[in-house]
Amino acid sequence: MNAPLPADALSKLKAVLGPDGWSEDPDRLAPKLAEWRGRWQGWTPLLVTPRTVEEVSGVVSICAEHGVPIVPQGGNTGLVGGQIPEGELLLSMEKMRAVRDVNPADDAMVVEAGVTLLEAQAAAAAQDRLFPLSLAAEGTATVGGNISTNAGGVAVLRYGMMRDLVLGLEAVLPNGEVFRGLKRLRKDNTGYDLKQLLIGAEGTLGVVTAASLKLFPVMRSRATAVVAVEDPAKAVALLMRAKAETGGGVDAFEIMSRLGTQMVLRNIPGTRDPLPGGAYPWTVLVELASGEPRAAEAAMERLLAAALEDRLILDAAVAQSEQQARDFWRVREDQSAGQKPEGAGWKHDISAPVSQVPAMLAEATAAVERFHPGVRVTAFGHLGDGNIHYDVIMPQGADRAAFEALRDEGSRIVHDIVARYEGSISAEHGLGRMKSAEALRYKQPAQVEAMRAIRRALDPKGIMNPAVLF
Ligand SMILES: Cc1cc2nc3c(=O)[nH]c(=O)nc-3n(C[C@H](O)[C@H](O)[C@H](O)COP(=O)(O)OP(=O)(O)OC[C@H]3O[C@@H](n4cnc5c(N)ncnc54)[C@H](O)[C@@H]3O)c2cc1C
Repeated sequence: MNAPLPADALSKLKAVLGPDGWSEDPDRLAPKLAEWRGRWQGWTPLLVTPRTVEEVSGVVSICAEHGVPIVPQGGNTGLVGGQIPEGELLLSMEKMRAVRDVNPADDAMVVEAGVTLLEAQAAAAAQDRLFPLSLAAEGTATVGGNISTNAGGVAVLRYGMMRDLVLGLEAVLPNGEVFRGLKRLRKDNTGYDLKQLLIGAEGTLGVVTAASLKLFPVMRSRATAVVAVEDPAKAVALLMRAKAETGGGVDAFEIMSRLGTQMVLRNIPGTRDPLPGGAYPWTVLVELASGEPRAAEAAMERLLAAALEDRLILDAAVAQSEQQARDFWRVREDQSAGQKPEGAGWKHDISAPVSQVPAMLAEATAAVERFHPGVRVTAFGHLGDGNIHYDVIMPQGADRAAFEALRDEGSRIVHDIVARYEGSISAEHGLGRMKSAEALRYKQPAQVEAMRAIRRALDPKGIMNPAVLF
């Protein structure tokens, strides 16, 4: 699609939003049309920036009436291109940034969709509560985007995905009607749960305008360590021990391959090897937390001492200060950025049952190395919940364009292996423009037909993010 908006729709939209509520200025639009990794460059006839749920409703009603397609956008940190319009109207949530309420007695807070994840965490912390969702893009990613992608991140092991953290939603449905569902209930068995349909819908079933989110007690002690292991199977064994030792007190369990860590140390200024003594094949960042003062540190000490004695682990470094813990985390969080200067990569966001991850990784690596000798495989991420970012980087000195031309074929090899392990080809990033067609290969027909029927029922004119999902 590459056409201007119908003139009557355009004038109605401008009237609903007022002079500050829309823009056609290319400089204002440019950052919203480029994707973080540079894989998509979009186009839109109009950017709209509503300030209230009523304005969002006005925009969507006009678009429904005139059949104008819409792409909602939050922080534009999505990694599958679902937030980039290709001719659709771009609806940004940048002006809906109020924290409406934080209620410690209910362990709930209500925030608007354009609030960044970092601001939501800070609003909870100001009332001595924890909002636990955490990911590297949290300074820019919004709560609305987190909900629409059902974001995961580094604390899923203990607290679950965004889906587990939402008590209620306010949203504008594709016909412009407002769903006012900002309840704070833990229990509400009264039929289909509309909010759960909207979570992870990637903007296809409406525009999320606000959410009621679950809060938790703040932890009183925390211990962070980087642990060297021989292989992912040993890491899984360590995870089981850590869970048993702490009674479920493992906040994060993030694996990193040596190659990925080397790329970080080589390419990201200011990073340091947490275990400079040895070039270990795999490391795991383990974070334990407890409601009891000093309990996490004591548990970490017991866990690592026993694991070393039993030769389950090769080495370990425990952070001695908050700064050191941040330095450890930096090596993990910069794994993606560290790859960039190394050339093109085929990126995968895959998951499997935790017990199957070691075998799945070994099989995938053998297969891609057979397919394209010389590729450099880096694997990192949330082993604690079975989700690995599995990236195949081009051989040193290879031709970038030729390597990129093989991406679909190379990724198909990985995805077919993931499917055999009953895993997912998109564990936490969603499907977006990038993976919707590929995902159709792995979905059951009954599942696809049910999804399409739901979409048709809520959005008969097909205006909401039409290039995304099925
Ligand atoms: C460095 C980096 C690290 C990351 N780490 C993680 C990670 O650990 N775990 C993880 O899950 N993701 C991660 N991501 C991906 C990304 O941050 C998440 O997908 C995030 O949830 C997207 O939020 P956003 O506000 O940027 O959404 P956008 O990118 O703006 O949009 C994403 C999708 O949601 C839709 N959408 C956005 N807002 C709304 C709304 N209000 N109503 C309806 N639909 C909407 C869009 O149409 C699009 O389909 C990472 C990204 C980066 C750049």
